[in-house]
Amino acid sequence: MTFELSGIGASPGIAIGTAMVLESAKIEIPDYLVSTGDIPAEVERLRSALGLARDELLRVREAIPKDAPQDTRLFIDAHLLMLDDPALRERPLRLISEECRNAAWALHHERERLLEIFERMEDAYLRGKREDILQVTDRVLRHLVGVQPPVLSGGAERIIIANELSPADTVLLKQGRVLAWVTDFGAAISHSAILARSLGLPAVVGTHLATRLMRSGDTIVVDGDHGTVLIDPDPTLVEEYRELQERRHRRMELLELEKDLASVTLDGEPIRLLANIELPDDVESVRRSGAEGVGLFRSEFLFMNRTDTPGEEEQYLAFSSVLRSLDGAPVTIRSIDIGSDKTVTDSNLQPSHGILNPALGLRGLRLCLRRPDWFRPHLRAILRASALGPARLMLPMVSTVTEIVQTRQLIGQLQRELKAEGRPFAEDLPIGIMVEVPAVAMAAHCFTGVSDFFSIGTNDLIQYALAVDRGDDDVNVLFDPLHVGVLSMIQHTITAGEAAGIPVGMCGEMAANPHWTSLLIGLGLRELSMFPGAIPEVKEQIRRTRVAESRVLALQALAGNTGVFDANDLPDSS
Ligand code: PEP
Ligand code: MG
Repeated sequence: MTFELSGIGASPGIAIGTAMVLESAKIEIPDYLVSTGDIPAEVERLRSALGLARDELLRVREAIPKDAPQDTRLFIDAHLLMLDDPALRERPLRLISEECRNAAWALHHERERLLEIFERMEDAYLRGKREDILQVTDRVLRHLVGVQPPVLSGGAERIIIANELSPADTVLLKQGRVLAWVTDFGAAISHSAILARSLGLPAVVGTHLATRLMRSGDTIVVDGDHGTVLIDPDPTLVEEYRELQERRHRRMELLELEKDLASVTLDGEPIRLLANIELPDDVESVRRSGAEGVGLFRSEFLFMNRTDTPGEEEQYLAFSSVLRSLDGAPVTIRSIDIGSDKTVTDSNLQPSHGILNPALGLRGLRLCLRRPDWFRPHLRAILRASALGPARLMLPMVSTVTEIVQTRQLIGQLQRELKAEGRPFAEDLPIGIMVEVPAVAMAAHCFTGVSDFFSIGTNDLIQYALAVDRGDDDVNVLFDPLHVGVLSMIQHTITAGEAAGIPVGMCGEMAANPHWTSLLIGLGLRELSMFPGAIPEVKEQIRRTRVAESRVLALQALAGNTGVFDANDLPDSS
């Protein structure tokens, strides 16, 4: 019998396939005493769980695709080393033999002790090792309590069902070639959801019950357009969804045929359509989408799923490969925006341990300015790549003019350094900012003197303006891009940019919604950047828009009348 589960449609599309459930991070630890006679068996249980965890890590290591960064393997190696460390096994073995404790409790007890020691460490790098201890011991504990561990790389052709996925996990899913994913938690603007859209994977988040109601092997249908998941659907329903899937596919093919049509309104106003990317490999989808270039390269993804920090040369190669592949098209490289939900494995770079509000803490440019030791090579790599094509540098999470002035001073120094070394770079590299802090939007006129362009990051702007965590499904309904307060900030930014003669674009997810294309044009935007898959439908809308009519729409929206954005006046995308 079909069972339907609803959540939030985080990435459009339909997938029909077999579920693979990744168990929740929380493991119940049994606590009991074993009889003296059972001690040898309990000791053996712990040894065997350690061995199983080891075999499993070796299998994961084997399954890492050849083209994955070398450091993905180093990450697994670090966990293997930790598993072999006597410190992890000696005390638990003593607790079993001398105090008759059960194996899971003994290991858990030792883990808590180690975590406490690491938590007290001054050195941020060592403190960050807590995460590794957690992951390694989790793997062993899962064997001891009989819970299957998550093996992301084993999910090929499967639909992944998980409690929650981090942006780094989502990148691994791409390498594992999964069909779709469903999570208990998460919201439509979380970075994992953004990645799912950019990978073209249907996704439903915030279902609350997925991991509890589904079992690996269940047949399921994921409808990312409507945020529904069908468990064990009737064959007739599966047939209906296959037809919908087919129709959607045909529509996308038709839109793709139109990719070379001009992005221009009915009354001849050109609107620049750019793509958001996360990794150099994404340029292929940029080309297919018909985008004019890249409006947001989230460079922080180069830093994920690895235990170290990429050096200047490696970063330079990544940036230059994008510029070269796009062959003269503009590429906006955003300096790394680590922090908040975008965590990296290199604990040296990860400031959020134990911080209550990481979204309001050291992230993006704030963190970069604190760490010139890695901001410098990062900027040098961008500057060097700028010699190869029309690059722009974009700074994230800016709150004050001083931060931009400091960054520009640093860039000036680096340019002098590069000149002395005889390395080429674009002397006139445009340096712009993301407008994603409400106070910056409201004071945008104060930032025009130090910015060559603005790009409105609505994902964070809305989160901060409405005090709604972008990754929390419980408050997802309050995440309202059409809130008059938000629209006023967008308009204010555009007006300030226009007055100063600097370009203003939008690269937040709001730009990707074809229902709002006309409104954004009416508010004055002439540059929109989005995940590549959204470009054909947004272009279709642009080609149906008249600027004069869109201005009326914008005025209505600014007055609070948003009923006009009825989903029905768009063609069915299914
Ligand atoms: C934004 O905040 O709108 C944005 C585009 O940046 P990110 O989603 O990476 O935070
Ligand atoms: Mg942002």
